[in-house]
Amino acid sequence: PQFTVPDTALAGLREDLAGEVLVPGDPGYEEARRIHNGMIDRRPAVVAQCATQADVANAVLFGRETGLPIAVRGGGHSVAGASSVDGGLVIDLRRMHAVVADPEHMTVRVEGGALMSHLDRATQPFHMATTGGRVSTTGVGGFTLGGGSGWLERKFGLACDNLLSVDLVTAEGKHVVASDEENPELFWALHGGGGNFGVATSLTLRLHELPAMSFALLLFPPSAGPAVVEAYRAMAETMPDEASGGVLYFPAPPEPFVPAHLVGELVVAALVTFAGPRSGLRHLAGPLAALRPVVELVEEIPYADLQCMLDDPPGLRNYWSAEYLGSFPDEAVEVFCARGERLPEGTATQHVLFPLGGAVARGPADWPLPWRTAPWAVHPFATWEDPAADGRAIQWVHDVRTDMRPWTTEAVYLNFIGTEGEERVVAGFGAGNYPRLAAVKAAYDPDNVFRLNHNITPAAA
Ligand code: FAD
Repeated sequence: PQFTVPDTALAGLREDLAGEVLVPGDPGYEEARRIHNGMIDRRPAVVAQCATQADVANAVLFGRETGLPIAVRGGGHSVAGASSVDGGLVIDLRRMHAVVADPEHMTVRVEGGALMSHLDRATQPFHMATTGGRVSTTGVGGFTLGGGSGWLERKFGLACDNLLSVDLVTAEGKHVVASDEENPELFWALHGGGGNFGVATSLTLRLHELPAMSFALLLFPPSAGPAVVEAYRAMAETMPDEASGGVLYFPAPPEPFVPAHLVGELVVAALVTFAGPRSGLRHLAGPLAALRPVVELVEEIPYADLQCMLDDPPGLRNYWSAEYLGSFPDEAVEVFCARGERLPEGTATQHVLFPLGGAVARGPADWPLPWRTAPWAVHPFATWEDPAADGRAIQWVHDVRTDMRPWTTEAVYLNFIGTEGEERVVAGFGAGNYPRLAAVKAAYDPDNVFRLNHNITPAAA
Protein backbone atom coordinates (compact mmCIF):
# COMPACT_ATOMS: atom_id res chain seq x y z
CA PRO A 1 0.00 0.00 0.00
CA GLN A 2 1.12 3.54 -0.73
CA PHE A 3 0.31 6.43 1.54
CA THR A 4 1.37 9.97 0.81
CA VAL A 5 3.10 11.97 3.45
CA PRO A 6 2.68 15.71 2.94
CA ASP A 7 6.03 17.53 3.07
CA THR A 8 4.67 20.02 5.58
CA ALA A 9 3.63 17.26 7.98
CA LEU A 10 7.05 15.63 7.65
CA ALA A 11 8.83 18.93 8.21
CA GLY A 12 6.65 19.46 11.29
CA LEU A 13 7.60 16.05 12.67
CA ARG A 14 11.30 16.71 12.09
CA GLU A 15 10.96 19.95 14.01
CA ASP A 16 9.00 18.39 16.86
CA LEU A 17 11.24 15.42 17.47
CA ALA A 18 14.31 15.43 19.70
CA GLY A 19 15.13 12.12 18.01
CA GLU A 20 15.52 11.56 14.29
CA VAL A 21 13.12 11.11 11.40
CA LEU A 22 14.17 8.78 8.60
CA VAL A 23 12.56 8.28 5.18
CA PRO A 24 13.63 5.98 2.32
CA GLY A 25 17.01 7.08 0.97
CA ASP A 26 18.19 8.66 4.22
CA PRO A 27 21.44 7.34 5.68
CA GLY A 28 20.46 4.91 8.42
CA TYR A 29 17.07 4.10 6.91
CA GLU A 30 18.06 0.62 5.74
CA GLU A 31 19.37 -0.33 9.20
CA ALA A 32 16.38 1.27 10.88
CA ARG A 33 13.79 -0.66 8.91
CA ARG A 34 15.27 -4.07 9.69
CA ILE A 35 13.89 -6.26 12.47
CA HIS A 36 15.07 -9.51 14.01
CA ASN A 37 13.25 -11.84 11.60
CA GLY A 38 15.06 -11.80 8.24
CA MET A 39 11.89 -12.98 6.49
CA ILE A 40 10.27 -9.61 7.13
CA ASP A 41 11.36 -7.08 4.52
CA ARG A 42 9.11 -4.06 4.88
CA ARG A 43 9.69 -0.49 3.79
CA PRO A 44 8.01 2.03 6.08
CA ALA A 45 7.35 5.52 4.70
CA VAL A 46 8.67 7.11 7.91
CA VAL A 47 10.70 5.86 10.84
CA ALA A 48 10.39 8.13 13.89
CA GLN A 49 13.35 7.35 16.13
CA CYS A 50 11.91 8.73 19.33
CA ALA A 51 14.20 9.92 22.11
CA THR A 52 11.63 11.12 24.64
CA GLN A 53 8.11 10.54 25.81
CA ALA A 54 7.10 13.79 24.06
CA ASP A 55 8.57 12.42 20.83
CA VAL A 56 6.33 9.39 21.14
CA ALA A 57 3.25 11.57 21.65
CA ASN A 58 4.20 13.72 18.64
CA ALA A 59 4.81 10.67 16.48
CA VAL A 60 1.43 9.17 17.41
CA LEU A 61 -0.31 12.44 16.52
CA PHE A 62 1.64 12.65 13.24
CA GLY A 63 0.54 9.13 12.37
CA ARG A 64 -3.06 9.96 13.06
CA GLU A 65 -2.99 13.24 11.10
CA THR A 66 -1.41 11.66 8.05
CA GLY A 67 -3.46 8.47 8.28
CA LEU A 68 -0.35 6.30 8.13
CA PRO A 69 -0.69 2.87 9.72
CA ILE A 70 1.41 2.81 12.89
CA ALA A 71 3.83 0.11 13.98
CA VAL A 72 5.53 0.37 17.36
CA ARG A 73 9.03 -1.06 17.56
CA GLY A 74 10.69 -2.12 20.79
CA GLY A 75 13.22 -4.94 20.46
CA GLY A 76 11.85 -5.91 17.03
CA HIS A 77 11.46 -9.57 18.01
CA SER A 78 7.87 -10.11 16.91
CA VAL A 79 8.10 -13.12 14.60
CA ALA A 80 5.25 -11.85 12.43
CA GLY A 81 6.93 -8.47 12.02
CA ALA A 82 4.36 -6.50 14.02
CA SER A 83 7.01 -3.84 14.61
CA SER A 84 7.32 -2.84 10.97
CA VAL A 85 4.86 -1.79 8.29
CA ASP A 86 5.06 -1.26 4.54
CA GLY A 87 4.36 2.35 3.62
CA GLY A 88 3.47 3.33 7.18
CA LEU A 89 5.00 4.92 10.27
CA VAL A 90 7.35 3.04 12.59
CA ILE A 91 7.53 4.51 16.08
CA ASP A 92 11.01 3.26 16.92
CA LEU A 93 11.70 3.22 20.67
CA ARG A 94 15.27 1.92 20.52
CA ARG A 95 16.85 5.18 21.61
CA MET A 96 14.78 5.04 24.79
CA HIS A 97 16.71 2.34 26.60
CA ALA A 98 17.65 3.91 29.92
CA VAL A 99 17.32 1.68 32.97
CA VAL A 100 17.47 2.94 36.54
CA ALA A 101 17.59 0.37 39.31
CA ASP A 102 16.48 1.27 42.82
CA PRO A 103 18.04 -1.57 44.82
CA GLU A 104 16.91 -0.08 48.11
CA HIS A 105 13.25 -0.39 47.19
CA MET A 106 13.94 -3.39 44.95
CA THR A 107 12.41 -1.86 41.84
CA VAL A 108 13.71 -0.95 38.42
CA ARG A 109 12.44 1.56 35.90
CA VAL A 110 12.98 0.69 32.28
CA GLU A 111 12.33 2.90 29.25
CA GLY A 112 9.99 1.49 26.60
CA GLY A 113 12.70 0.60 24.09
CA ALA A 114 15.17 -1.08 26.47
CA LEU A 115 16.33 -4.59 25.71
CA MET A 116 16.60 -7.43 28.21
CA SER A 117 20.39 -6.94 28.22
CA HIS A 118 19.99 -3.30 29.31
CA LEU A 119 17.79 -4.43 32.19
CA ASP A 120 19.94 -7.38 33.24
CA ARG A 121 23.22 -5.42 33.10
CA ALA A 122 21.73 -2.63 35.21
CA THR A 123 20.56 -4.95 38.00
CA GLN A 124 23.37 -7.56 37.97
CA PRO A 125 25.79 -5.40 40.04
CA PHE A 126 23.23 -5.43 42.87
CA HIS A 127 22.73 -9.21 42.56
CA MET A 128 19.14 -8.55 41.74
CA ALA A 129 16.98 -9.53 38.79
CA THR A 130 13.45 -9.93 37.60
CA THR A 131 12.06 -12.51 35.21
CA GLY A 132 13.36 -11.88 31.69
CA GLY A 133 13.19 -13.84 28.44
CA ARG A 134 15.66 -16.50 27.43
CA VAL A 135 17.77 -14.25 25.21
CA SER A 136 19.28 -10.82 25.87
CA THR A 137 18.08 -9.07 22.71
CA THR A 138 14.31 -9.07 23.28
CA GLY A 139 12.58 -5.78 24.05
CA VAL A 140 11.44 -5.49 27.67
CA GLY A 141 8.28 -3.69 26.49
CA GLY A 142 6.87 -6.22 24.01
CA PHE A 143 8.05 -9.09 26.20
CA THR A 144 6.53 -7.89 29.48
CA LEU A 145 3.25 -6.51 28.14
CA GLY A 146 2.66 -9.86 26.41
CA GLY A 147 3.26 -11.82 29.66
CA GLY A 148 7.00 -12.50 29.81
CA SER A 149 8.29 -16.04 30.30
CA GLY A 150 11.87 -17.01 31.23
CA TRP A 151 14.26 -18.99 33.43
CA LEU A 152 13.26 -17.21 36.65
CA GLU A 153 9.49 -17.49 36.20
CA ARG A 154 8.97 -20.54 38.42
CA LYS A 155 10.57 -18.62 41.29
CA PHE A 156 9.54 -14.98 40.66
CA GLY A 157 6.50 -15.34 38.41
CA LEU A 158 6.04 -14.09 34.87
CA ALA A 159 7.57 -10.71 33.98
CA CYS A 160 4.13 -9.09 34.05
CA ASP A 161 3.49 -10.45 37.55
CA ASN A 162 6.33 -8.13 38.58
CA LEU A 163 4.96 -5.08 36.79
CA LEU A 164 4.30 -2.22 39.21
CA SER A 165 3.35 0.56 36.82
CA VAL A 166 3.42 1.60 33.20
CA ASP A 167 3.65 5.06 31.61
CA LEU A 168 1.63 4.93 28.46
CA VAL A 169 1.12 7.32 25.54
CA THR A 170 -2.39 6.73 24.26
CA ALA A 171 -3.89 6.89 20.79
CA GLU A 172 -4.80 10.51 21.55
CA GLY A 173 -1.19 11.34 22.31
CA LYS A 174 -1.97 11.67 26.02
CA HIS A 175 0.02 10.33 28.96
CA VAL A 176 -1.60 7.94 31.40
CA VAL A 177 -0.20 5.90 34.24
CA ALA A 178 -1.45 2.37 34.74
CA SER A 179 -0.94 0.72 38.12
CA ASP A 180 -2.97 -0.89 40.89
CA GLU A 181 -4.00 2.60 42.02
CA GLU A 182 -4.31 4.47 38.73
CA ASN A 183 -6.40 3.18 35.84
CA PRO A 184 -6.50 -0.34 37.29
CA GLU A 185 -8.61 -1.73 34.46
CA LEU A 186 -5.98 -0.60 31.94
CA PHE A 187 -3.30 -2.06 34.21
CA TRP A 188 -5.14 -5.38 34.18
CA ALA A 189 -5.29 -5.35 30.38
CA LEU A 190 -1.56 -4.64 30.10
CA HIS A 191 -0.86 -8.07 31.65
CA GLY A 192 -0.90 -9.85 28.32
CA GLY A 193 -2.63 -7.32 26.06
CA GLY A 194 0.67 -6.12 24.56
CA GLY A 195 0.72 -2.94 22.50
CA ASN A 196 -3.05 -2.77 22.04
CA PHE A 197 -3.65 0.17 24.37
CA GLY A 198 -0.81 2.56 23.67
CA VAL A 199 2.94 2.98 23.66
CA ALA A 200 4.65 2.17 26.95
CA THR A 201 7.38 4.76 27.42
CA SER A 202 8.46 3.31 30.74
CA LEU A 203 7.76 0.25 32.86
CA THR A 204 8.52 -0.17 36.55
CA LEU A 205 9.20 -3.71 37.68
CA ARG A 206 9.80 -5.44 41.02
CA LEU A 207 13.31 -6.79 41.62
CA HIS A 208 14.31 -9.90 43.53
CA GLU A 209 17.54 -10.90 45.16
CA LEU A 210 19.52 -13.32 43.05
CA PRO A 211 22.89 -13.89 44.73
CA ALA A 212 23.82 -16.80 42.46
CA MET A 213 22.68 -18.45 39.25
CA SER A 214 23.79 -21.79 37.85
CA PHE A 215 22.92 -24.23 35.13
CA ALA A 216 23.47 -27.80 34.02
CA LEU A 217 23.61 -28.51 30.30
CA LEU A 218 23.75 -32.13 29.21
CA LEU A 219 23.95 -33.20 25.58
CA PHE A 220 22.84 -36.61 24.34
CA PRO A 221 22.56 -38.39 21.00
CA PRO A 222 19.01 -38.29 19.61
CA SER A 223 18.55 -42.00 20.31
CA ALA A 224 18.52 -41.14 24.04
CA GLY A 225 15.73 -38.58 23.51
CA PRO A 226 12.75 -40.46 25.02
CA ALA A 227 14.72 -41.52 28.11
CA VAL A 228 16.00 -37.95 28.57
CA VAL A 229 12.54 -36.42 28.25
CA GLU A 230 11.09 -38.97 30.66
CA ALA A 231 13.82 -38.27 33.21
CA TYR A 232 13.27 -34.55 32.76
CA ARG A 233 9.54 -35.00 33.27
CA ALA A 234 10.11 -36.94 36.49
CA MET A 235 12.52 -34.28 37.74
CA ALA A 236 10.11 -31.45 36.91
CA GLU A 237 7.32 -33.01 38.94
CA THR A 238 9.14 -32.37 42.19
CA MET A 239 11.82 -29.79 41.40
CA PRO A 240 12.02 -26.64 43.53
CA ASP A 241 10.84 -23.30 42.14
CA GLU A 242 14.49 -22.26 41.69
CA ALA A 243 14.81 -24.81 38.90
CA SER A 244 13.65 -24.29 35.33
CA GLY A 245 15.07 -24.99 31.88
CA GLY A 246 13.87 -27.36 29.21
CA VAL A 247 14.70 -30.04 26.69
CA LEU A 248 15.80 -29.05 23.20
CA TYR A 249 16.52 -30.96 20.01
CA PHE A 250 18.88 -28.91 17.88
CA PRO A 251 22.02 -29.14 15.74
CA ALA A 252 24.93 -28.82 18.19
CA PRO A 253 26.37 -25.30 17.95
CA PRO A 254 30.09 -24.57 17.40
CA GLU A 255 30.72 -23.77 21.08
CA PRO A 256 33.99 -24.57 22.87
CA PHE A 257 32.28 -27.20 25.04
CA VAL A 258 30.98 -29.14 22.01
CA PRO A 259 33.44 -31.75 20.64
CA ALA A 260 34.28 -31.05 16.98
CA HIS A 261 32.71 -34.27 15.70
CA LEU A 262 29.34 -33.26 17.18
CA VAL A 263 29.13 -29.72 15.77
CA GLY A 264 26.18 -29.51 13.41
CA GLU A 265 24.92 -32.96 14.45
CA LEU A 266 21.47 -33.38 15.91
CA VAL A 267 21.61 -33.56 19.71
CA VAL A 268 19.14 -33.56 22.59
CA ALA A 269 19.98 -31.05 25.28
CA ALA A 270 18.65 -31.17 28.80
CA LEU A 271 19.03 -27.77 30.41
CA VAL A 272 18.39 -27.19 34.09
CA THR A 273 18.72 -23.60 35.22
CA PHE A 274 18.89 -22.94 38.92
CA ALA A 275 18.35 -19.65 40.74
CA GLY A 276 21.00 -20.44 43.32
CA PRO A 277 24.48 -21.92 43.71
CA ARG A 278 25.78 -24.91 41.78
CA SER A 279 25.58 -27.11 44.87
CA GLY A 280 21.78 -27.04 44.61
CA LEU A 281 21.90 -28.40 41.11
CA ARG A 282 24.04 -31.55 41.18
CA HIS A 283 21.52 -33.67 43.02
CA LEU A 284 18.62 -32.43 40.87
CA ALA A 285 20.38 -33.21 37.59
CA GLY A 286 21.65 -36.58 38.90
CA PRO A 287 19.11 -38.79 37.09
CA LEU A 288 19.86 -36.95 33.82
CA ALA A 289 23.61 -37.33 34.32
CA ALA A 290 23.07 -41.07 34.88
CA LEU A 291 21.89 -41.35 31.25
CA ARG A 292 25.50 -40.86 30.13
CA PRO A 293 25.52 -37.54 28.30
CA VAL A 294 28.24 -36.89 25.71
CA VAL A 295 28.72 -33.41 27.17
CA GLU A 296 28.02 -32.34 30.73
CA LEU A 297 28.47 -28.77 31.92
CA VAL A 298 27.53 -27.68 35.42
CA GLU A 299 28.44 -24.07 36.06
CA GLU A 300 27.71 -21.05 38.13
CA ILE A 301 27.28 -17.97 35.95
CA PRO A 302 26.12 -14.37 36.42
CA TYR A 303 22.46 -14.25 35.43
CA ALA A 304 23.12 -11.50 32.85
CA ASP A 305 25.63 -13.82 31.13
CA LEU A 306 23.31 -16.82 31.18
CA GLN A 307 20.81 -14.61 29.37
CA CYS A 308 23.18 -14.30 26.38
CA MET A 309 23.81 -18.03 26.01
CA LEU A 310 21.05 -18.65 23.47
CA ASP A 311 21.32 -15.34 21.58
CA ASP A 312 20.84 -15.73 17.82
CA PRO A 313 22.38 -13.26 15.39
CA PRO A 314 19.75 -10.90 13.94
CA GLY A 315 18.58 -11.37 10.37
CA LEU A 316 18.07 -15.14 10.31
CA ARG A 317 14.78 -16.29 8.86
CA ASN A 318 12.42 -17.16 11.74
CA TYR A 319 9.18 -19.06 12.02
CA TRP A 320 7.80 -20.36 15.30
CA SER A 321 4.69 -21.34 17.14
CA ALA A 322 3.73 -22.95 20.43
CA GLU A 323 1.31 -25.31 22.05
CA TYR A 324 0.53 -25.55 25.75
CA LEU A 325 -0.08 -29.06 27.01
CA GLY A 326 -2.68 -30.09 29.56
CA SER A 327 -0.87 -33.38 30.15
CA PHE A 328 2.32 -35.02 28.95
CA PRO A 329 1.90 -38.80 29.07
CA ASP A 330 4.37 -41.35 27.64
CA GLU A 331 2.69 -41.33 24.26
CA ALA A 332 3.13 -37.56 24.00
CA VAL A 333 6.82 -37.94 24.91
CA GLU A 334 7.24 -40.40 22.02
CA VAL A 335 5.49 -38.10 19.58
CA PHE A 336 7.50 -35.09 20.73
CA CYS A 337 10.78 -36.99 20.33
CA ALA A 338 9.89 -38.49 16.96
CA ARG A 339 9.39 -35.01 15.52
CA GLY A 340 12.60 -33.83 17.16
CA GLU A 341 14.50 -36.48 15.22
CA ARG A 342 13.18 -34.99 11.99
CA LEU A 343 14.20 -31.33 12.19
CA PRO A 344 13.91 -29.55 8.83
CA GLU A 345 17.10 -30.04 6.85
CA GLY A 346 19.43 -27.11 6.33
CA THR A 347 18.10 -25.13 9.29
CA ALA A 348 19.23 -24.37 12.84
CA THR A 349 15.83 -25.25 14.25
CA GLN A 350 15.19 -25.83 17.95
CA HIS A 351 12.44 -28.19 19.07
CA VAL A 352 11.80 -27.04 22.61
CA LEU A 353 9.95 -28.37 25.63
CA PHE A 354 9.54 -26.03 28.61
CA PRO A 355 8.28 -26.95 32.07
CA LEU A 356 5.93 -24.38 33.62
CA GLY A 357 4.47 -24.72 37.14
CA GLY A 358 5.84 -23.12 40.31
CA ALA A 359 5.12 -19.40 40.61
CA VAL A 360 3.77 -19.35 37.03
CA ALA A 361 0.89 -21.64 37.93
CA ARG A 362 0.38 -20.09 41.38
CA GLY A 363 0.40 -16.49 40.09
CA PRO A 364 -2.65 -14.24 39.71
CA ALA A 365 -5.37 -16.21 37.94
CA ASP A 366 -7.03 -12.95 37.00
CA TRP A 367 -4.67 -11.76 34.24
CA PRO A 368 -5.73 -12.55 30.67
CA LEU A 369 -3.11 -15.31 30.41
CA PRO A 370 -5.09 -18.56 30.58
CA TRP A 371 -2.08 -20.68 29.57
CA ARG A 372 -0.21 -20.05 32.80
CA THR A 373 -1.64 -23.12 34.53
CA ALA A 374 -0.51 -25.54 31.80
CA PRO A 375 2.29 -27.81 33.05
CA TRP A 376 4.28 -27.95 29.77
CA ALA A 377 4.84 -25.90 26.63
CA VAL A 378 6.13 -27.14 23.29
CA HIS A 379 7.81 -24.40 21.26
CA PRO A 380 8.92 -25.32 17.74
CA PHE A 381 11.41 -22.58 16.84
CA ALA A 382 12.74 -22.69 13.28
CA THR A 383 15.60 -20.45 12.17
CA TRP A 384 17.51 -20.70 8.91
CA GLU A 385 19.38 -18.67 6.29
CA ASP A 386 18.49 -20.01 2.87
CA PRO A 387 15.06 -18.94 1.52
CA ALA A 388 14.96 -22.31 -0.26
CA ALA A 389 14.27 -23.88 3.17
CA ASP A 390 11.22 -21.67 3.87
CA GLY A 391 8.66 -24.28 2.88
CA ARG A 392 10.05 -27.18 4.88
CA ALA A 393 10.83 -25.09 7.96
CA ILE A 394 7.31 -23.66 8.14
CA GLN A 395 5.72 -27.04 7.42
CA TRP A 396 7.73 -28.65 10.21
CA VAL A 397 6.46 -26.07 12.73
CA HIS A 398 2.88 -26.80 11.62
CA ASP A 399 3.54 -30.54 11.90
CA VAL A 400 4.65 -30.15 15.51
CA ARG A 401 1.37 -28.44 16.31
CA THR A 402 -0.64 -31.16 14.59
CA ASP A 403 1.34 -33.91 16.33
CA MET A 404 0.79 -32.50 19.81
CA ARG A 405 -2.91 -31.76 19.33
CA PRO A 406 -4.23 -34.68 21.44
CA TRP A 407 -2.60 -33.12 24.52
CA THR A 408 -2.88 -29.38 23.87
CA THR A 409 -5.01 -26.89 25.74
CA GLU A 410 -6.71 -24.12 23.78
CA ALA A 411 -4.75 -21.48 25.61
CA VAL A 412 -1.52 -20.31 24.01
CA TYR A 413 1.09 -17.70 24.90
CA LEU A 414 0.78 -15.07 22.17
CA ASN A 415 4.40 -13.88 22.40
CA PHE A 416 5.42 -17.32 21.15
CA ILE A 417 3.32 -17.25 17.97
CA GLY A 418 2.99 -15.20 14.81
CA THR A 419 -0.16 -14.36 12.87
CA GLU A 420 -2.33 -17.43 13.30
CA GLY A 421 -5.83 -15.97 13.04
CA GLU A 422 -8.36 -14.35 15.33
CA GLU A 423 -9.39 -17.58 17.01
CA ARG A 424 -5.86 -18.11 18.31
CA VAL A 425 -5.77 -14.52 19.59
CA VAL A 426 -9.02 -15.04 21.51
CA ALA A 427 -7.71 -18.36 22.84
CA GLY A 428 -4.47 -16.65 23.88
CA PHE A 429 -6.36 -14.16 26.02
CA GLY A 430 -9.12 -16.58 27.02
CA ALA A 431 -12.65 -16.29 25.61
CA GLY A 432 -13.89 -15.18 29.03
CA ASN A 433 -11.37 -12.32 29.21
CA TYR A 434 -11.75 -11.11 25.65
CA PRO A 435 -14.90 -8.95 26.09
CA ARG A 436 -13.27 -7.23 29.07
CA LEU A 437 -10.14 -6.52 27.00
CA ALA A 438 -12.32 -5.25 24.15
CA ALA A 439 -13.98 -2.82 26.56
CA VAL A 440 -10.58 -1.49 27.70
CA LYS A 441 -9.53 -1.24 24.06
CA ALA A 442 -12.68 0.79 23.28
CA ALA A 443 -11.90 3.12 26.19
CA TYR A 444 -8.26 3.80 25.21
CA ASP A 445 -8.05 3.11 21.48
CA PRO A 446 -11.56 3.11 20.00
CA ASP A 447 -10.27 3.65 16.43
CA ASN A 448 -7.80 0.78 16.68
CA VAL A 449 -4.82 2.99 15.92
CA PHE A 450 -2.57 0.37 17.55
CA ARG A 451 -3.54 -2.63 15.48
CA LEU A 452 -0.23 -4.16 14.45
CA ASN A 453 -0.14 -6.69 17.29
CA HIS A 454 -2.23 -9.61 18.50
CA ASN A 455 -5.14 -7.32 17.95
CA ILE A 456 -8.13 -6.82 20.20
CA THR A 457 -11.16 -5.44 18.37
CA PRO A 458 -12.56 -2.47 20.28
CA ALA A 459 -15.98 -3.27 21.79
CA ALA A 460 -18.82 -1.57 19.92
CA ALA A 461 -19.95 1.66 21.61
P1 FAD B 1 8.69 -5.88 18.87
O1 FAD B 1 8.59 -6.65 17.61
O2 FAD B 1 9.42 -4.59 18.85
O3 FAD B 1 7.32 -5.72 19.54
C1 FAD B 1 6.42 -6.79 19.68
C2 FAD B 1 5.00 -6.23 19.90
O4 FAD B 1 4.98 -5.46 21.10
C3 FAD B 1 4.57 -5.30 18.78
O5 FAD B 1 3.19 -5.40 18.59
C4 FAD B 1 4.95 -3.94 19.34
O6 FAD B 1 4.18 -2.94 18.76
C5 FAD B 1 4.69 -4.09 20.82
N1 FAD B 1 5.58 -3.27 21.64
C6 FAD B 1 6.92 -3.37 21.79
N2 FAD B 1 7.38 -2.46 22.66
C7 FAD B 1 6.30 -1.75 23.08
C8 FAD B 1 6.11 -0.68 23.98
N3 FAD B 1 7.14 -0.13 24.63
N4 FAD B 1 4.85 -0.20 24.16
C9 FAD B 1 3.81 -0.75 23.51
N5 FAD B 1 3.92 -1.76 22.64
C10 FAD B 1 5.15 -2.27 22.43
N6 FAD B 1 9.29 -14.44 24.80
C11 FAD B 1 9.22 -14.91 26.06
O7 FAD B 1 8.27 -14.64 26.78
N7 FAD B 1 10.21 -15.69 26.56
C12 FAD B 1 11.30 -16.00 25.84
O8 FAD B 1 12.15 -16.71 26.33
C13 FAD B 1 11.41 -15.49 24.52
N8 FAD B 1 12.49 -15.77 23.77
C14 FAD B 1 12.60 -15.22 22.51
C15 FAD B 1 13.75 -15.44 21.77
C16 FAD B 1 13.90 -14.89 20.51
C17 FAD B 1 15.17 -15.14 19.74
C18 FAD B 1 12.86 -14.10 19.98
C19 FAD B 1 13.00 -13.50 18.61
C20 FAD B 1 11.70 -13.88 20.72
C21 FAD B 1 11.55 -14.43 21.98
N9 FAD B 1 10.41 -14.22 22.75
C22 FAD B 1 10.35 -14.70 24.03
C23 FAD B 1 9.24 -13.57 22.20
C24 FAD B 1 9.17 -12.11 22.59
O9 FAD B 1 8.82 -11.95 23.94
C25 FAD B 1 8.10 -11.43 21.74
O10 FAD B 1 8.43 -11.53 20.40
C26 FAD B 1 7.94 -9.96 22.15
O11 FAD B 1 6.75 -9.47 21.62
C27 FAD B 1 9.11 -9.16 21.68
O12 FAD B 1 9.08 -7.86 22.10
P2 FAD B 1 10.01 -6.80 21.35
O13 FAD B 1 9.80 -5.49 21.99
O14 FAD B 1 11.38 -7.34 21.22
O15 FAD B 1 9.44 -6.89 19.88
